[in-house]
Amino acid sequence: MKRNLRFYFALFFAKGTALVLKLIRRKGTSMPGSWALILCPDFLGRMEKPKRIIGITGTNGKTTVSNMVEDSLTALGYDFVCNRSGTNVGSGVSSALIAQSTFFGRPKKDLAIFELDERSAPHLLPYLQPQLLLCTNIFRDSYKRNAHMEFILDILNGSIPPETRLVLNADDLLCAGIKPENQRVYFGIDPQPGEDNVCRNIVQDVRVCPHCGARLDWDLIRYHHIGRARCPQCGFSSPQAQYKVLSFDPDHLKVQMDLNGQKVALTVPNASTINVYNSLSTAALLSEFGIEPDRLVPVMEKLGVSATRYSEETVGSRKVILHLAKGQNPIACSRAFENIRNYPGKKAVILFLDDYFDALHSVENTAWLFDTDFEFLNDPGVAFIAAAGARHWDVYLRLLLAGVPREKMGHIEDVEHAADLVDPAGVDAVFILYDVYTIGLANRVKEQVRRQLAACTEKETAHEN
Ligand SMILES: [Zn+2]
Repeated sequence: MKRNLRFYFALFFAKGTALVLKLIRRKGTSMPGSWALILCPDFLGRMEKPKRIIGITGTNGKTTVSNMVEDSLTALGYDFVCNRSGTNVGSGVSSALIAQSTFFGRPKKDLAIFELDERSAPHLLPYLQPQLLLCTNIFRDSYKRNAHMEFILDILNGSIPPETRLVLNADDLLCAGIKPENQRVYFGIDPQPGEDNVCRNIVQDVRVCPHCGARLDWDLIRYHHIGRARCPQCGFSSPQAQYKVLSFDPDHLKVQMDLNGQKVALTVPNASTINVYNSLSTAALLSEFGIEPDRLVPVMEKLGVSATRYSEETVGSRKVILHLAKGQNPIACSRAFENIRNYPGKKAVILFLDDYFDALHSVENTAWLFDTDFEFLNDPGVAFIAAAGARHWDVYLRLLLAGVPREKMGHIEDVEHAADLVDPAGVDAVFILYDVYTIGLANRVKEQVRRQLAACTEKETAHEN
């Protein structure tokens, strides 16, 4: 696409906006990109891009994986453009490109790493033409924003350029089938001890063979539709992965991987299965980018899971844990609930599950609560659950349907007082589940819980003396 007067007007206006924002010390906003797109809707097509572009998309994990890829490349000495401090839609990508360009909009860097919202793919991928695109997985997400997985798959299939090399999840048949004619590699986790082919989730969105429609035979169901399947009628099966986790040891955070024929051992920041997938897909993408395992492993060993997604803090003999659980996203919440159930000791849980924007402008739809495995929280290890927010009655009802006894629950509309419902004396850990945009609230409540736990410890110590 050629540059025209409109493009230059949008570029200079956006650069001016960025300058003003810098002067008033407002960081990390996508406003310059928003203006560029308002003034010139095909701005991304006309803007000159870095020579090499890597995209990272998928329903869950794309932010964590993007951060891991960026941190690894920075540690290896690469200089690149990325949209980490902005949004993963057109405005964030445009802002990043504008910020890292010369006065006339020529790129200052040769490489770009972009986290890309799958729903926005038509406004991004045809313009960006990434050489490499990682898709972490395809799951149900907010019905309002994403409708259904097949709708999202249609969008991706219609937007991914034919030249883009794909890095796809072999254990996810929805993801593995994207753009079948494109060049691709797969990543996957081998079956682990204790895993079987029984689905323990409410939602399992792959039932039949994508080629012939016959009912699939499953050799392994890890969770939801993640696993390994075969078609008894046409011979179709889950693809073989070139990048594999052979085994992992959650207690010592050790993972054995096979990176396209080279075996490596890696220490990971968090050995819950979803985080092992995040580490594996990061390793697969960086290997495809050309980083050799002997350079890759030392930098990946130093990565942490971003503190905005998961953080543990010890107060006396107890823990307070922040755990992201995106509102309106049944799969992300189900994974969080299973993590809580599997966490050792007695736990209390504070649930802030309302989507921040829905809570502001009324909540659209509560159907997602009934797709989410609240049943994981009906466990002897979960001592108490507090639900707070605009939809606290709906969450309470859903927990009752999951069989959680009334005496183990409290619920309240005022989110700032949710911690008052919890008595920390009888528990080993307090989990606070929150949405991406409610980290401020989560941190305030965490402070309050920390004070409660400290008071508890003081009382116990006094008692012992
Ligand atoms: Zn078949």
